[in-house]
Amino acid sequence: MKQPVVNCPRCGRIVIWTNANRYRPFCSERCKMIDLGEWAAESYRIPEAEKQEGEALKDEE
Ligand SMILES: [Zn+2]
Repeated sequence: MKQPVVNCPRCGRIVIWTNANRYRPFCSERCKMIDLGEWAAESYRIPEAEKQEGEALKDEE
């Protein structure tokens, strides 16, 4: 069975779309949380999210 593949909306990494990947369409929990964090920040401007923004966006690669 061929598995569908998507690109992580956050970093563009290739993600295999399976039930085992609980973070789909993101590649990892990190990308998911960053994306949700930005969405939440835009909607509600949570002070805590703003405080951690610099760290969350730091690229470890
Ligand atoms: Zn990603």
